[in-house]
Amino acid sequence: MSSAAPTLADVNPDILTWDGPLGLPAFDKIEDRDFDAAFAVALPAHLAEIDAIADNPDAPSFENTIVALERAGGLLDRAASIFWNLSGANTNETIQKLERKLAPEMARHASAISMNRALFSRVDTLYQARDSLGLDAEAGRVLELTWKSFVRSGAQLEDADQKKLAAINERLASLGTAFSQNVLADESAYALALESPDDLAGLPEFLVSGMAAAAEERGHPGKHAVTLSRSIIEPFLTFSDRRDLREEAFRAWTARGAGAGARDNRPIVAEMVKLRAEKAALLGYETFAHLKLDNTMAKTPENVRSLLDTMWDKARKRAGEEAADLAELIAEEGRNHAVAPWDWRYYAEKVRAARYDLNDSEIKPYLQLEKMIEAAFATAERLFGITIRRHPDVRAYHPDVRVFEVLNADGERIAVFLGDYFARASKRSGAWMSSFQDQHRLAGDNGDGEQIPFVINVMNFAKAAPGAPVLITMDDARTLFHEFGHALHGMLSDVTYPSISGTSVSRDFVELPSQLFEHWLTVPDVLQTYAVHYETGEPIPDALVEKLRAAGKFNKGFANVEFTSSALVDMAFHALDPDQSADIDPQAFEAGVLSEIGMPEEIVMRHATLHFAHVFSGDGYSAGYYSYMWSGVLDSDAFRAFEETGDPFHPETAAKLHRHIYSSGGSMDPEEAYIAYRGKLPTPDALIEKEGLA
Ligand SMILES: [Zn+2]
Repeated sequence: MSSAAPTLADVNPDILTWDGPLGLPAFDKIEDRDFDAAFAVALPAHLAEIDAIADNPDAPSFENTIVALERAGGLLDRAASIFWNLSGANTNETIQKLERKLAPEMARHASAISMNRALFSRVDTLYQARDSLGLDAEAGRVLELTWKSFVRSGAQLEDADQKKLAAINERLASLGTAFSQNVLADESAYALALESPDDLAGLPEFLVSGMAAAAEERGHPGKHAVTLSRSIIEPFLTFSDRRDLREEAFRAWTARGAGAGARDNRPIVAEMVKLRAEKAALLGYETFAHLKLDNTMAKTPENVRSLLDTMWDKARKRAGEEAADLAELIAEEGRNHAVAPWDWRYYAEKVRAARYDLNDSEIKPYLQLEKMIEAAFATAERLFGITIRRHPDVRAYHPDVRVFEVLNADGERIAVFLGDYFARASKRSGAWMSSFQDQHRLAGDNGDGEQIPFVINVMNFAKAAPGAPVLITMDDARTLFHEFGHALHGMLSDVTYPSISGTSVSRDFVELPSQLFEHWLTVPDVLQTYAVHYETGEPIPDALVEKLRAAGKFNKGFANVEFTSSALVDMAFHALDPDQSADIDPQAFEAGVLSEIGMPEEIVMRHATLHFAHVFSGDGYSAGYYSYMWSGVLDSDAFRAFEETGDPFHPETAAKLHRHIYSSGGSMDPEEAYIAYRGKLPTPDALIEKEGLA
């Protein structure tokens, strides 16, 4: 028995060196309990590397300081990337326990680096002399971003304030972890098991079989479970004739994080909002929103508010018209209730079916998951000259995960792609892109080798009954394209330095590659080739495509109200100064904001505060949920560049897109990158038109 701290010899070598197929980690040789020792060794090892850079007796140079920083932390990167990917996509109690322990440790670690005075002094010396260092544009940008990141992390604060800031960061990290674990617990605990055929009234076959599979997985074979996975709850609310069941499921869905007791996110949010305001004040910013927006394309809360207000007025007006249509239909059915939030999707689907002679069940037989994956791949191949090839024998961390390699036009491997498409209880809900390693050209002992990206898409599609094809909705297909757009941003990255690789761009720019890629889903050529009937193999009829196009602007008042209200509430929480943020009641605050902006009673926020993971599970999208809409302005305008040529695959436009947007990572200022692609900055006009809100 030894109580000595673990050393490198105690770390599972398969975390340290990846020699699985295609260079992936050998997942089958890594166990959950291995991560504890790996982090215990990797964190101090990284700090030792940092100290060596900081204490280097040689005068600071770009090479011995910035490049050295970029290259440091290899073991930590490897352990962390495997661990955090598992924590999202295949978690269990061992992982969750370590996650709770690690969250504050990682925050402390980040503080130890950003508040290292000797290190910052070297970075600062270089930054002040930046014009005389003879750096190329990319290196110059890395120096500038590094310096700013140190300053925003408190490098210039007095000792006492640095200590305060470090404590705040540590506490925020723990709170964020608790927040998301509470939401996950509420999501996986809930299943409304249905038994009688009456309970299934109105539900299409795909949903019935998805609910049967979900019940089976949760130990209720022979029953049908309504779970809170978006691919079940949303169609259930859309199709169930049973108003009582819709209400019950809706209430559970929107109450995530609001349970009393150990899973209550109320005190967590209240404390996070207060700590964020204090953090911003320490760093010299008026509010947390000012701090968060300082390094974005939007730059100020006023610019964000101006876009959100413009869209809010238009969305609310349209939602009012939509609500009137729904109320009319309810009256026609001889019912005398108002439109409740659990009625909206159900009656909207009926209005859509009547007005456009179109319903989801009619489209769904043409949307097979497998074909839609092929469609996303083929679109990327055609636009960017790549080839995506599956390796069916390569196994990742779960048997459901598929592994692909991506080749460039010369047949060289430029990326590995993992697709983890199906829902399971061990997976966080939602859909996302992440990576195991990022592209850069500092690999190898001399820094002269290329590291190719290993990128993953994680989705939550419901499995079909054995032998049946998985059919998805148009929204699901859009999500698939969206996340693959992010994946391409990571896989096509072509930069030298790791810190600006792929998706390491301003947060309100990062949704441009993903949202833009969604546009190709509805390109007629793509639909006719890949949207084929699962029984007959017939391509989707032109008339149906035309109906889809016509219905494309339907219910956009609803969609923009649920989004924009969430974004406005996010901004409001983070526009508080430390005094205003003391002792707030998150739900009362949210209600106050919603009443002030005139939230329609029939609609709820897309993400209510107590399960608003974008904003409270970490720092990611805090004061940043607006980014999707900001990127929406960009992507609507960016696709116009193709429309203006009359060719959705126009080669020169695609080449510019590849070069300036998908492969440039953070090597350029986002405004400059956009102008390089498009020749000018966009206005919201294309978005307003696309959403049919003009
Ligand atoms: Zn996205």
